Amino acid sequence: MAQSIGFIGLGIMGQPMALNLAKAGYQLAVYNRTRSKAEPLERAGARVAASPADAVRDAEVIVTIVSDSAAMEDVVCGPGGVLETIRPGAVLIDSSTISPVVSRKLACHVAGKGARMLDAPVTGSKHGAEKGDLIFMIGGERAALDRVMDVLQVMGKKHVYCGENGKGLAAKLAMNSILATTVAVFSEGFVAATKAGVNPQVLLEIMQSSLARCAIVDFKAPFVFRGDFTPYFPLKLMHKDLELAMEAAYAQNVAMPVTATVKEVYGAAKARGSGDLDYAAVITFFEEMAGVKVRG
Ligand code: NAP
Repeated sequence: MAQSIGFIGLGIMGQPMALNLAKAGYQLAVYNRTRSKAEPLERAGARVAASPADAVRDAEVIVTIVSDSAAMEDVVCGPGGVLETIRPGAVLIDSSTISPVVSRKLACHVAGKGARMLDAPVTGSKHGAEKGDLIFMIGGERAALDRVMDVLQVMGKKHVYCGENGKGLAAKLAMNSILATTVAVFSEGFVAATKAGVNPQVLLEIMQSSLARCAIVDFKAPFVFRGDFTPYFPLKLMHKDLELAMEAAYAQNVAMPVTATVKEVYGAAKARGSGDLDYAAVITFFEEMAGVKVRG
């Protein structure tokens, strides 16, 4: 077991991930910009650090999970950032969903200090983070991954090596395009059926008995039918991921016309005030246009 972990970012995902590491007996130094979110970790025996640099000064392994590319650049390169104190030989596991280009640049900075960085974005949402059964998609040096596998195993049930730096993120962005599109088209179809007088519970029963069945709809439909949009994955972060997917597609000369349209729909839902709700709240955009609500 690695002796010491520096953990940065205790939001919806980071807090349960860090708590699982504390429960597994790792020595943790944690940092969160808003200090109050570190209190449950303090009660679990972690040291609360004053800055990212303070959190990683003794760490052999560092885990970061913050909102977006700008946040990750602040945490690594900003004043009081990771680069000020990271130890040679340390491995930084970044589970934030950020731009693969920014991630590769940060990996170079980290390598300049004699340490290594892996992009290791996750899927599985808040439940997966709490249960320690996230799925990790990993890019970077295989040898660095081998050194931190014990830490990753506490937080996740499946760890898929995708290749060099940036490839974990490339896989993650494709995954989220698929998820966002599925939830958007579920919303559109259920709104149309409701407007036509079909009970949404009945449509769900038909879907669940057919080849159209899918796990994300099974999971989200009960929340949608209750009008419960408590954020498991905030809509504004899904919109950010769709923007990242499009940026990566443009850079590679790949057309993603479906994702481009879906991105606009999430952007409109965000502009209408749903950014901090779960991304399933994208349905409210279709509901408002159709003048119906899909409730069970
Ligand atoms: P969240 O609850 O909004 O947490 C974001 C974290 O980033 C907070 O700790 C926040 O600190 C920190 N942060 C933001 N800007 C910062 C800055 N400039 N400097 C330092 N810290 C900063 O989001 P989340 O749901 O945990 O998501 C975190 C990452 O995981 C995102 O990249 C997201 O796309 C990805 N992800 C999320 C899910 C999910 O289901 N929620 C699933 C897979 C991947 P404060 O507390 O001070 O705001």
